[in-house]
Amino acid sequence: MTANKSFDVIVAGAGSVGAPAALSLAGSGLKVLVVDPLPSVGQGSNKRAIGGLRATHSDPAKIRLCLRSLEIFATWKETTGVDIEWHRGGYCYVAYRPEEERTLQELLVVQKASGLDIDWLDAPALLEVVPDLNPEGLRGGTLSPNDGHASPLLAVHAFYTRARALGAEFHFDERVTGLTTAAGRVTGVRTDKGEYSAPVVINAAGPWGAEVAALAGIEVPVRPDSHEAAVTEAVARFLEPMIVDIRPAPGSANHYFYQHHTGQIIFCITPSPSIWGMDVRETSAFLPMVAGRMVGLIPRLKNVRVRRTWRGLYPMTPDGFPIVGWARELEGYMLAVGMCGQGFMIGPGLGELIARMALSTTTADDRETLTYLSPYREFKGQEKLK
Ligand SMILES: Cc1cc2nc3c(=O)[nH]c(=O)nc-3n(C[C@H](O)[C@H](O)[C@H](O)COP(=O)(O)OP(=O)(O)OC[C@H]3O[C@@H](n4cnc5c(N)ncnc54)[C@H](O)[C@@H]3O)c2cc1C
Repeated sequence: MTANKSFDVIVAGAGSVGAPAALSLAGSGLKVLVVDPLPSVGQGSNKRAIGGLRATHSDPAKIRLCLRSLEIFATWKETTGVDIEWHRGGYCYVAYRPEEERTLQELLVVQKASGLDIDWLDAPALLEVVPDLNPEGLRGGTLSPNDGHASPLLAVHAFYTRARALGAEFHFDERVTGLTTAAGRVTGVRTDKGEYSAPVVINAAGPWGAEVAALAGIEVPVRPDSHEAAVTEAVARFLEPMIVDIRPAPGSANHYFYQHHTGQIIFCITPSPSIWGMDVRETSAFLPMVAGRMVGLIPRLKNVRVRRTWRGLYPMTPDGFPIVGWARELEGYMLAVGMCGQGFMIGPGLGELIARMALSTTTADDRETLTYLSPYREFKGQEKLK
């Protein structure tokens, strides 16, 4: 088969990363093709996310990328006229034990040094912000007021629409099945429908990132694991920030929830042990486990009725940090995979970084960010706020 169309960049995956990346690439004047086997934008993990957006992370790379993402989400309506349901509610990490208090306070150093607006609040101050929090044993917590939430489906659709207006082409119901290469560099992709050429190919295939990297003969340690989430009926507003409890408990490593501005409570846990694999069928174990934890934190939640549960995939890496960088094995091939539980919030900031990488206009800050996210790091550390 001969190449029938040529582009500057081809992106595999139209999800939380691929859609905003296409937007930034097309916005930089590049001719972009995005290919995705699903029927429309954001139908992989993106639509399963609960919409949490934070720059409250434990490392400068993600803090930096997400500070930029937050700016994009927060100003989207004003700059484009399109509502993506952005709400600046803040994030609150609570501490009921000395262990979590120590972890959260230690992280403040790197968080503040990286430009994050965050502070430790003692229990009385925290109860002023979240009056319904269980006061028993509460030691305090962190509050980062500029974090918030938005709709993953509205946002990904907004990025897609804008990317198309800027000339990006999207091919749905089409899967990247192979690469074309010459003399150690990528020259394009093969799909189940045709062949396209480009000097740059970006793997933004999320939970399928390892599978797509294998088409290039590259091994990346991205492994999907299942996370469940749910939404309740709408009730009168009583909760502003996302509440995150990083205490482990039987069956879960942490849990988090927020009240959408339309009244529903949306919540998640991180299962422990992890549920590896691609299974996205809901379980019967999730609700009883998470409900007990949530009512323990905010007792008045006990009367709220759950409307729907769902399950989706985190593209996990061994250390909990994304994998972003040029592949050494194949010139022109970029990895933007392993977003773990934060692809939606990282997406727009990362999209801009990807465009600078493609144009060779990265800054000194970008290069430092890329060292943290390097595909060739040792994967020895552990993200503390996964
Ligand atoms: C329950 C739950 C709650 C979450 N909550 C949040 C949250 O609050 N905030 C947050 O930031 N993140 C959250 N996440 C995580 C977030 O959903 C992911 O990190 C993010 O969607 C990953 O983005 P991605 O672009 O890497 O993958 P995806 O969005 O899955 O996009 C990858 C795309 O690649 C496509 N693809 C697969 N194979 C191929 C191929 N061969 N060729 C071309 N394309 C291919 C797929 O069809 C898919 O559309 C949550 C996840 C879950 C499951």
